[in-house]
Amino acid sequence: MTESQASYSIIPNTIMIELADMDLSGVSIQTQAAKVAEEWGEFLAAQAKKPALDHVAEEAFDLMQALAGYLDMLGVDIEAANGKHLAKVWERGNKPRGRER
Ligand SMILES: [Mg+2]
Repeated sequence: MTESQASYSIIPNTIMIELADMDLSGVSIQTQAAKVAEEWGEFLAAQAKKPALDHVAEEAFDLMQALAGYLDMLGVDIEAANGKHLAKVWERGNKPRGRER
């Protein structure tokens, strides 16, 4: 991806990911939770042996899409939860906790 193709958030030190606002009417919360588990399994399997990055990325997005749908079905305000997540990470100095070398 070139600089001109990249999509950056206007918020510093963040990346923007867009997911579909899927119509999950008729899908039960239990079924969606099972979808999350299924996609997690596919994400892990995609990394076995010699991983193909495009496949790993595909499964990562499947997982994020399934999780977003699940949170929405639960009634989570995803934008607000995203904001809280970012604030938590920024309070740590934008670094992972407990995984420093
Ligand atoms: Mg998948």
